[in-house]
Amino acid sequence: MTYTFTCDQGHEPQVFTVDAENDDEAVEKIAEATKTHVGESHPEMASVSPEEAMNMIRNKMVKAE
Ligand SMILES: [Zn+2]
Repeated sequence: MTYTFTCDQGHEPQVFTVDAENDDEAVEKIAEATKTHVGESHPEMASVSPEEAMNMIRNKMVKAE
């Protein structure tokens, strides 16, 4: 399955796409894929716990069969 995650917090929308077997795997892959972007564009996220960041991804990602 393909999962897409769009980050548009304070900038032009940037879309990240990953392939994963299930939601848990997708969350992990998106967290990995967005690491550099978050580090560069969202320094405030450094104070968010990993669990909270994972929840944010889970709530926002979109699954495409
Ligand atoms: Zn962003």
